[in-house]
Amino acid sequence: MDMSNEVSMGNEAAFSRACASLVGGVNSPVRSFTSVGGSPFFIREGHGSYVVDIEGRRYLDYVQSYGAIIHGHGDDGVLAAVMDAARKGTTFGAPTLGEVELAERIKAKVPGIDLVRLTSSGTEATMTALRLARGVTGRSKIIKFEGCYHGHSDALLASSGSGVASLGLPASVGVTPAAVLDTIVAPYNELPKIGEDVAAVIVEPVAANMGLVPASAGFLQELRRLATEAGALLIFDEVITGFRIAEGGASTLFGVTPDLWCFGKVIGGGLPVGAVAGPEEIMAYLAPTGPVYQAGTLSGNPLATAAGSAALRQLNSASYRMLAGRAEQLAFGLTKVIEEADLAVQIQRVESLLGIFFADEPVTNYREAVSSVERGIYAHFFHAMLKRGIAMAPGPYEVLFPGLAHTVDDVDKTIDIASAAAVEAR
Ligand code: PLP
Repeated sequence: MDMSNEVSMGNEAAFSRACASLVGGVNSPVRSFTSVGGSPFFIREGHGSYVVDIEGRRYLDYVQSYGAIIHGHGDDGVLAAVMDAARKGTTFGAPTLGEVELAERIKAKVPGIDLVRLTSSGTEATMTALRLARGVTGRSKIIKFEGCYHGHSDALLASSGSGVASLGLPASVGVTPAAVLDTIVAPYNELPKIGEDVAAVIVEPVAANMGLVPASAGFLQELRRLATEAGALLIFDEVITGFRIAEGGASTLFGVTPDLWCFGKVIGGGLPVGAVAGPEEIMAYLAPTGPVYQAGTLSGNPLATAAGSAALRQLNSASYRMLAGRAEQLAFGLTKVIEEADLAVQIQRVESLLGIFFADEPVTNYREAVSSVERGIYAHFFHAMLKRGIAMAPGPYEVLFPGLAHTVDDVDKTIDIASAAAVEAR
């Protein structure tokens, strides 16, 4: 078998080849087309707001690696930083100043953070945050919200959004009852009762894994108050919202300070990074200064921290004005053309994050998200957009990530195409 990647190969052939060596042909279920039908296209390269598949087709890309990319693909500043770092060595298993710089950049943008622990994924960050919260409080239970996705650790998969929801799974086979015994699931946007055995409440401050569902007015503020009253920690999972919806993320945008933050995606500039962060009195419980153990061979990897610092360095208040402006243009245009096609639609948006629900009323929780998805329109709309060159996530519970590389013309083109796609999707 010729295993080189130079042979010219179409998407179908690539997918067959992939399925022979990778489970389902993919390394993360959200990339499969299981919930929309068909097989995925294989990406050859990406530039700015576009990706190009191995057949040479260009797509205007709203996936942007599920939000890991904010400056567009192949950003010059990020690439230069990665190349420079790579020339000096790819990993050492010893401290580097690159890790310190990334932690300092995170601290500088988010008031309330004294200390940071870098990981290699968002999953590790949320897993660590739970262990830390349990270690600090000496309590066992955690509360999560239905439709929020916090990565794929056992305790957090129950009633998850994202790929778990797209595949129609309540959780995952292989997670033992004991592993979820301490997980309490509450409906999003409803205030849970926080008992004295609860170590932490973990929440996406803007839910972006059941489509885009904003926290209702006062929800985060009340959660903050109730958690404090109950002696539980409040964890903001800002893996998506961090450094995307505002320069300091959701905690600064909403003026609610959690006890712990989880980050990922943007802080890696497109390379694998996650982080758990918070005030010193909590973070110091982590080893080596405290008794809560957590580690990682590649944590704080030089290439990843260089990419992350380069990404954060280039973000300022003007970036967020631009992002929100572009997303507003997109949301307004999509609503208009989809409604003109006689489809009920809710384009839900918080700053630059937006999601499409084919629904009559705004969606405020997971149950409503599921009933909108059950109308089955997303899959038709997705394919109608894709064949016209617009790539959205191949799952109805994901969001769109317009980024700094998306131009006014890109958005106008998207809206024009959506006009035809919506008619076809009816
Ligand atoms: N938390 C949220 C809110 C996420 O959206 C994700 C991934 O999409 C994660 C955690 C897990 O991050 P990772 O995929 O890097 O493990």
